[in-house]
Amino acid sequence: MDDFATSRNQMVERQIAARGIRSPRLLAAMREVPREAFVSAALAGQAYEDSPLPIEADQTISQPYIVALMIEAAGVAPGDKVLEIGAGSGYAAAVMGRIAEEVIAIERHAELAALAETRMRRLGYDNVRILHGDGSAGLPEQAPFHAILAAASGSHVPEALKAQLAIGGTLVMPIGEPGAVQSLVKLTRTAEDSYDSEDLGPVRFVPLIGEQGWTERGERRSPPAARMRAAAEPLPRIDDPAFAKAFDRFGDARVVLLGEASHGTSEFYRARAAITRRLIEGHGFTIVAVEADWPDAANVDRFVRHRPRRDGEEAAFRRFPTWMWRNAEVEAFVSWLRSHNERREPEAMAGFYGLDLYNLPGSMRAVIDYLEDVDPEAAALARERYACLMPWSRDPALYGRLAVTEGYARCRAPVVAMLRELQAKRLSYIAENGEEWLDAAANARLVQNAEAYYRAMYEGAAESWNLRDTHMFETLCQLLDAKGENAKAVVWAHNSHIGNAAFTEMGQVRDELNIGQLVKERFGERARLIGFGTHAGTVAAATDWDGPMEVKQVRPSLEGSYERLSHETGLPRFLLDLRDSEAGAPLLEPRLERFIGVIYRPETERWSHYAQAILPRQFDAWVWFDETEAVRPLPGAEAPGEDDMWPFGL
Ligand code: SAH
Repeated sequence: MDDFATSRNQMVERQIAARGIRSPRLLAAMREVPREAFVSAALAGQAYEDSPLPIEADQTISQPYIVALMIEAAGVAPGDKVLEIGAGSGYAAAVMGRIAEEVIAIERHAELAALAETRMRRLGYDNVRILHGDGSAGLPEQAPFHAILAAASGSHVPEALKAQLAIGGTLVMPIGEPGAVQSLVKLTRTAEDSYDSEDLGPVRFVPLIGEQGWTERGERRSPPAARMRAAAEPLPRIDDPAFAKAFDRFGDARVVLLGEASHGTSEFYRARAAITRRLIEGHGFTIVAVEADWPDAANVDRFVRHRPRRDGEEAAFRRFPTWMWRNAEVEAFVSWLRSHNERREPEAMAGFYGLDLYNLPGSMRAVIDYLEDVDPEAAALARERYACLMPWSRDPALYGRLAVTEGYARCRAPVVAMLRELQAKRLSYIAENGEEWLDAAANARLVQNAEAYYRAMYEGAAESWNLRDTHMFETLCQLLDAKGENAKAVVWAHNSHIGNAAFTEMGQVRDELNIGQLVKERFGERARLIGFGTHAGTVAAATDWDGPMEVKQVRPSLEGSYERLSHETGLPRFLLDLRDSEAGAPLLEPRLERFIGVIYRPETERWSHYAQAILPRQFDAWVWFDETEAVRPLPGAEAPGEDDMWPFGL
C-alpha cells in the first residue's frame, strides 16, 4: 500500500467515520478517490489533512469531513442523477460519481473546470461531467435531479434549483453572507409544491457568484424589478416618431414577429402599425402577414395593392371575432398601406396577407372563382370536389366529428387532388394570371390543411394547434419564397403564436409548437420575436365563443408574474431588449405570463389566462404598456357596392 492509500484510510477512519458518517458506500468511495490528485503537486503532501486547502483561481477544496457531511445529508445513492454547483477541484463530484449513476458539476472558473475535467478523464470517472458556467440557476435542461449540492454560499435557495429537484430529492447548500459564518441548509422536496427544510449547522464557504447568488463584488443583487427598470428603455407615445425608431435595431432581420397579449388592445395594434411602417419605409419589408384568414386578408391586399376588387366578394372579416381585424386601428394602418403603395412599382409594394385557416367557405369560393376565369372545366371539377365539405361549411367542426366517428375522412381525397392539380397546371395558369394563381394555390392549400385541422380537433388540442401553427408557418415561408430571397416579412400574431413555445408551458407541458419556434429554427438570428404586455386597463373580448364583443376591465397583473415586474418598474411604456444579458439574465427564472385571447374571463383569470414562461428565451424583446384600452371596433353594418368603402364594406 502506498503512503497516500495509508493516509487516505486514516483520514476516513479519524475524520469521517469517527465523526459519525455511517454510509458504507460513502466511506468506500472516500477510500477510493485519490484526493492528492485534486490539489497542486506542492500541496499533495497535505491532501489528507483535516482542513480545506487552496486551489487555483483563489478558490478552495473543501475539508474532507464537510464533503462527506454534504453527500450524506443529500442521501446520494446508486441510480441517482446528481448536480453539483461549484465543482472547484472536482473532488466532491468524483466521490459522488463512485456512488451515483451520473454526476454533472458546474464551475464558474474556466481554469478550474478544465482541470477538473482532465482529472475525471485521467481517473476514468466517465459518469462525471464538468461544465463551465454559472450554475446558480441550475441546469433546467437536465432536471430533475435526485440530489443537488452547492459548494458555495448563496443569499437564498434559488427557486430555480428547488424546481429542479425530483420529488423526494434533496438539496444541500450553505446560505449566508460572503466571508461570514453561514448555515448549511438541507431541503427535501416532499411533493410537487412542498419542501422540508433543516439546518445542518454553521459552515464557511466561498460565495456563490452568479445570477441567483451574489454579484461579482459579493454584494446582494437588486430585486428583479429594479434590474428590469435599469435595463428598460423608456418609450415615448406611440405617435412620436422616436417610438418606432427604437425598433430600427431589428431592421436587419428577415422576419420580425410582433405579438400581442390580447386580441383586443388598441395599443398593441397601434404600436405594431407604427413599427411596421418604419420597417416598410426604412428597412425594405414588403410582407405584412397577420393572424387572420387568408381570403379575408386577400381582399384587403387587393385594396392596398391597388388591384381590382373581385366580383361578388364579401366584405372582409365578417365572422367572429370581427373586432380582431375590423377595427379603427387596423383600418388606419390599411389606409396608410394603400397610400404608401400608390405610384410604386408592383414589386416595391407592400402586401397584406392572412396566415390563418378558419374561413373555409371563403377559400373554397376563391379557388372556384379563380378557375372560372382561367379553366372553366377545372372549375366545375373543383365545385364537385368541394361539394363534399360544403354541407359543413358553417360549422366544419361537425365534419371533423363525423370523420372521427366514421373512421373515414371522406373529403380528404378530393381536397388533396384539388391542390395537386392546381399545382400541376401551375405554368399554364400562371401564364393566364400569375398574381391570382398565388392566391388560388394558397386557398387550395388552406382547404387541404383545414380539412385535416377539423379532424385533428377530435384527436386532441395539441394536434390541431400544431397543424394550425404549422400551416401559418408554411404560408409565411411560401410568401417569402414567392417574393424572392431578399423579401422581408413582418408578422402580427398573438404572443402565444409568436413567442417561442419551447420556453413556455405550451411546449414544455402540452407538446405544442408555434410559428415563433418554427421561425427561430428556420431563420435563427435573422428572426426576431417581440412580445407585448400590459398591466391593467380595458380590453375588447367576448365571454364565450361566438358571443358579443364586450369592453372588459383587465385585472391588475398577478403578484410574481412578468407583468407585475414590468408594472413595478413604474414606467408607462418601455422596450426591453432581451438579447442583452443585463436585461435577460434576471428574468431567466420561470414566471407566470398572461394570455388574453378573443375570450377573457377575469373571474377565473389565474387558471384560464396565465401560464409559465421563460420570457428572455421566449422573446428577443418585450414591449410594455402599463395601462391599455380596448380596440375601437368598426360598426357592423355593411353597405355593399360602395367601392370607396372597400375593403371593410362600411
Ligand atoms: N466541491 C468543491 C468545492 C469547491 S469551492 C471541491 O470539492 O473542490 C466552490 C467553487 O464554487 C469554487 O470553485 C467557485 O469558483 C465555484 N462557484 C462559485 N459560484 C459559482 C457559480 N455561480 N457557478 C458555478 N461555480 C461557482
